[in-house]
Amino acid sequence: MTASAPITQDVVTIARKLPETDRINLVGLTRAQLLETLVANGTPEKQAKMRVGQIWQWIYQKGVREFDTMTNLAKGYRAELAEKFVVEVPEVVSKQVSADGTRKYLVRIAGGHEVETVYIPEEGRGTLCISSQVGCTLTCSFCHTGTQKLVRNLTPAEIVGQVMVARDDLGEWPEPGRAPKDEARLLSNVVLMGMGEPLYNFDAVRDAMKIVMDGEGISLSRRRITLSTSGVVPEIAKTAEEIGCLLAVSFHATTDEVRDTLVPINKKWNIAELLDTLRAYPKLSNSERITFEYVMLKGVNDSDADARRLVKLIQGIPAKINLIPFNEWPGSPYERSDQKRIKSFADIIYKAGYASPIRTPRGEDIMAACGQLKSATERARKSRAQIAAETGQAG
Ligand code: SAH
Ligand code: SF4
Repeated sequence: MTASAPITQDVVTIARKLPETDRINLVGLTRAQLLETLVANGTPEKQAKMRVGQIWQWIYQKGVREFDTMTNLAKGYRAELAEKFVVEVPEVVSKQVSADGTRKYLVRIAGGHEVETVYIPEEGRGTLCISSQVGCTLTCSFCHTGTQKLVRNLTPAEIVGQVMVARDDLGEWPEPGRAPKDEARLLSNVVLMGMGEPLYNFDAVRDAMKIVMDGEGISLSRRRITLSTSGVVPEIAKTAEEIGCLLAVSFHATTDEVRDTLVPINKKWNIAELLDTLRAYPKLSNSERITFEYVMLKGVNDSDADARRLVKLIQGIPAKINLIPFNEWPGSPYERSDQKRIKSFADIIYKAGYASPIRTPRGEDIMAACGQLKSATERARKSRAQIAAETGQAG
């Protein structure tokens, strides 16, 4: 549903094109990879460990992109670094600001591909919703991204780069030596809920999140990062062990029959298998609750019987249920459940002892809400095809 409120769109083009280069990008390398890269390019082994720490802090704690600004390194060494390396983040090609303050960035990555990143300001905190793939291999029937074929996985640099460009835009790099407390931050939380299935790009997502969580890096606690998966069962335990962030699961249905149509990965790992794996997650990651995401689709999955089944299914799992009113997109095959229906569903869950927040759609006027993301180039192509169909011309 598109918002009826007046749209105040502030479309800004931020041109930050970096020159084409064959120098190595240091962004997105793990500490071990950074060490190896420095040594392989001439940094004496004895010094390399210390240099890693220094360069790491400049890049991730202070937001510095030029080696010349890294003043605790010798001038000659800075020049050497600049010859061989770059500190490069993806290019932000446009920014839209919603009437509700939500910001959507269109981010261009190597190869000319585009992904979207959304910043959602809230009382006392701010959440950045980042993408992990261009498009998605999965085809959830209610999701706009699912209509776009997978183009490619994002690299760790492109994933952590989304956090860095958002911090650039928010003006939120701390003064040297003055890392802000988490609660004071504009960008205080990260959710992997943008385009793509993060668990089908596991290694890159893990490496990027390690940088985001690193105390000398972007320094967000693992409890402030939530990874959302459609249910890639074999990777869930690995998420607990190797990342340790919070987990959200796109559950969306209470019978295999319905889940097979909404979240087709269910045909591979069904509800019972998914729940078995989820039962082990909080113990493994030492995290609190698992978020069950549940999109409210009119007449499809929103009955009181569904709510009761849901409660029964998740029994014994520390959980909260996040009800997401369906966000429509051009040509979407479903409608959003009525407010009354959503409320009745939420009440049943709440009475069973679970938190059941109803997610307020944010940034609908700029197509930034959950499930509406799709790269703009792809969208433009589709709408031209649609126009051609409507006017009876061959696409
Ligand atoms: N691929 C991952 C993460 C991205 S989707 C996953 O599926 O979990 C982030 C959340 O938005 C998921 O819960 C997804 O099911 C939900 N979503 C997708 N399309 C939506 C839509 N049109 N309206 C509301 N929520 C949607
Ligand atoms: Fe992919 Fe998630 Fe959309 Fe499903 S809901 S198509 S897994 S992005």
